[in-house]
Amino acid sequence: MKKIQMVDLKGQYKNIKERVDSSIMNVIETTAFVNGPEVHEFQKELEEYLNVKHVIPCANGTDALQIAMMGLDLKPGDEVITADFTFAATVEVIALLQLTPVLVDVDPVNFNIDVAAIKKAITPKTKAIVPVHLFGLTANMDAIMAIAEEHNLYVIEDNAQAIGADYLSKDGVKKKAGTIGHVASTSFFPSKNLGCYGDGGAIFTNNDALAHTIRGIVNHGMYERYHHDVVGVNSRLDSIQAAVLRAKLPHLDSYNLARIKAAGKYTAAFKGIENIIAPGGFDANKNEEEKTHVFHQYTLKIINTDRDALVKHLNANGIPCGVYYPIPLHLQKAYKDERYKEADFAVTNQLVKEVISLPMHTELDDEQIDFITQTIINFVAK
Ligand SMILES: *Cc1c(COP(=O)(O)O)cnc(C)c1O
Repeated sequence: MKKIQMVDLKGQYKNIKERVDSSIMNVIETTAFVNGPEVHEFQKELEEYLNVKHVIPCANGTDALQIAMMGLDLKPGDEVITADFTFAATVEVIALLQLTPVLVDVDPVNFNIDVAAIKKAITPKTKAIVPVHLFGLTANMDAIMAIAEEHNLYVIEDNAQAIGADYLSKDGVKKKAGTIGHVASTSFFPSKNLGCYGDGGAIFTNNDALAHTIRGIVNHGMYERYHHDVVGVNSRLDSIQAAVLRAKLPHLDSYNLARIKAAGKYTAAFKGIENIIAPGGFDANKNEEEKTHVFHQYTLKIINTDRDALVKHLNANGIPCGVYYPIPLHLQKAYKDERYKEADFAVTNQLVKEVISLPMHTELDDEQIDFITQTIINFVAK
C-alpha cells in the first residue's frame, strides 16, 4: 500500500508536471514576476469558472478576507458576526480592523454557522456576517442573505475551503460558493482544494464599484500611479503562483470529484457503525452530480469514544489525521469577550471533543481507504 498522507501534493503534481514545469519556466524566461500576464489570465479564467464579475487576486486567504472587509463601509466598533468553529484567520482580521467580532455557535450536523444564533446576535451595531463554508460545504446562504437584507448587513463569504462547490438556492438557481454574498475571499494555500505552490488568495465580487475600491486597496490605495486615495496594503499573487493555478484550474472539477468519491467510500464504510457519525447536511446520493460538498476535509464525529486515543491509534498505524478545530475561538485568549455565555456555544464546545478529519486529497486509492476505515471501525467497536 502507498504511504497514506493527509494531503498528497506530490501525486497530484506528477499528473500535471509537464504543464506546471513549462508554465513556471515561462514566467522565469519572461521575468514578469509580479502582475505579469499569468496573473491577469488566471483572474479571467477564474471569473469565468465561477461565473462572477470580478476576481481580484492577492497574496493569501487571510489578506483576502481583510481586504474584502476594508473595501466595505465598516468603522471601528461595528459588529461582525462569524462562526465560533472555524480557522482563526476569520476572526483575526475582524479584530485587526478594530471591528468587534461576535462569535456564534454552529450547526451540529453540517458544522456551519447557525442561522438562529446569527439572528440572536444581531444588535443595532451589527454591520456584517461572515459565513465560512466549512470543510467544503456552503453555509445556508438563502437564510443568511435573507437576514442580511432584513437588517441591512454585508455578507462576506469566507470561501477558503469550498472553491468549486455549488450552492442550490431554494428558487432552484445554482451558484458557485463565494459568488452569493456581497464579497468573498478564498485561499490558494497548497492544501486547499485549488492550491498553488506557495501562498495565494483572491477576492470575488459582482459589485463593480466594490471591485474598483478593492483593486486600489491591494495596491497601496492607488487608483492612479502615486496618488494614494485610501490606506491600502501590498498584497499580490505572484506570477509563478498564477502559472501553477492556471495549470490546475482546468482540473478543479475533477479534483473535487475525486474528493467527493473518496468521501462517498468513507461514508459507505461507516454506514451503520455505532459511535461514528459521517458528515451530514447535504444530499450524499446526489453529491457526485451536484457537488454541494467538495470535502476540503472529511470530518467525522466520534461519540462515546475517546477521540484523542483514536487519533493516537491512527497515527501509530501510519494514518495521519487532524482535529479541526480543537479549541473554540471564543475560548482563545485573543478572542475572549465577557459578553459570551458558555451556554451559547454548546455545539462548538461539544464538536471540539468529537471531530476528527481523515486523510482527504485527490490521490486516495481504495486500498488506503479500506485500511483507514477498517482501522477506525476496529478501534471504535472494541
Ligand atoms: C485557510 C483558511 C484561511 C486563510 O487562508 P491563508 O491563505 O492561509 O491565509 C481563512 N479562512 C479559512 C476558513 C481557511 O481555511
